[in-house]
Amino acid sequence: MSQRIVKSYKVLVGLEIHVQLATNSKMFTGAANAFGAKPNSLVDAQVLGLPGVLPVMNRRAVEYSIKVGLALNCGIAKHTKWDRKSYFYPDLPKNYQISQYDLPLCADGHFDLVEEDGTVCPVRIRRAHLEEDAGKLLHEAPGGHRIDGSIIDLNRAGTPLLEIVTEPDLHSPRQVALFAQELQKIVQFLGVSHAQMQMGQMRFEPNINVHITDDQGAVHKTAITEIKNLNSFSVLERATAYEIHRQVEQWIDNGSLGVKSTYGWDDKREITFLQRTKEDAHDYRYFPDPDLVPVEVDEQWLAELKSQVGELPAARRMRYVEAMGLSAADAATLASDRLVGDYYEQALAGGADARRVGNLLINVLGQLANRQNKPVFELGLSAGRLAELAVLIDQNKVAASNALPLIEKLLETDSAATDAAAALGLLQNNDTGAIDVAIDALIAQNPKPLQDLKAGKQAAMGALTGMLMRQAKGLNPKVVQERLREKLGL
Ligand code: MN
Repeated sequence: MSQRIVKSYKVLVGLEIHVQLATNSKMFTGAANAFGAKPNSLVDAQVLGLPGVLPVMNRRAVEYSIKVGLALNCGIAKHTKWDRKSYFYPDLPKNYQISQYDLPLCADGHFDLVEEDGTVCPVRIRRAHLEEDAGKLLHEAPGGHRIDGSIIDLNRAGTPLLEIVTEPDLHSPRQVALFAQELQKIVQFLGVSHAQMQMGQMRFEPNINVHITDDQGAVHKTAITEIKNLNSFSVLERATAYEIHRQVEQWIDNGSLGVKSTYGWDDKREITFLQRTKEDAHDYRYFPDPDLVPVEVDEQWLAELKSQVGELPAARRMRYVEAMGLSAADAATLASDRLVGDYYEQALAGGADARRVGNLLINVLGQLANRQNKPVFELGLSAGRLAELAVLIDQNKVAASNALPLIEKLLETDSAATDAAAALGLLQNNDTGAIDVAIDALIAQNPKPLQDLKAGKQAAMGALTGMLMRQAKGLNPKVVQERLREKLGL
């Protein structure tokens, strides 16, 4: 038997992502949508699927979904509807999930994923549709107590869930994880989801297959497998890597391309395991939900949502680099959170230098924010004061190295930055007249270091500057050195 040799292979991964939307109430009823409440307390007749109860659409959930669709450059349906996806499981009391089948709210989008090295990987978005989440089946009691059988918590049932599906345009486990992280940033930036993985607010299902080219140039395409319900970026990356490896190894081993199937991830053993061969859509008996009216999205509504989306993190990042001259890393830090970016731009409106403000914000305020475990804009320093401080530094009136004590002072007493600097004795004297007088006095008293300096001994500059600064407090060392050079004709 000839041996199977892999010359090369291409990885194709499409992602399905479920994002819980942070609306106040559930998708089709007024029951509260929250995390961590007492089991089965966020439940009403609709959530329980009691007969005769009619669903009513949550308008806010539709708006949140459209915003994500716009951010992913999707087309937004003018007309869409709700469909029933039928299946039986104890976490789904109605025996069907209300979802969207053939007319998703958002479709045909694209997103340029920028990798760590700057390479752009274009990712097509197939669709993003809205549906409701199911309840949670527990196999042990809260607190980890063993129970006989399983118990159900329906608090999660009916939570608005946005399902986003990409085309198989991701080509490495790293790209898959990066895309997931970008998406988390976008939904958080838009304020439509908390997207906390450990709370199950964002869940990933990679669909993976591999095109293997053998040593004869023939291409062997493995069957697509889907890994269900991954809930961290790290697990997503590791599980994808494992599954790619498993498919390639299986082909080398016995030539099998596998069958379309669903896998789970065993976190303890770090392996994927077969759950079932996959259902086709017709198994779900999709049909339009007769209890709900169709959704019509008119131009005015859409325009309003577009204006609320505004500038997205990626565009903001690019503007910070191109128009303001920030480094890519600084731009990313300032643009990742909408409120941080807004605070930064408010300070710029005060006429300060973009890089100076960025630097103060990231390195000095960032330090304080870390210590106090709150965002920079909540420290209590107004953007106006931050701008004043940046201007003082740029005008050489305060040394950049004194920014931290000055900011601490400003947080204590909200006075003008220049008054605070004066109170701390940090205002530098740039008055060249006063500096010249001091230099003349020094020349008269200490000819030696001056001779050294004239003779080319650069070290004498430091000694002279030090002496001058001690004699007349508050002189700006930069200006002192400039004047010294000029006076000595250096
Ligand atoms: Mn789904």
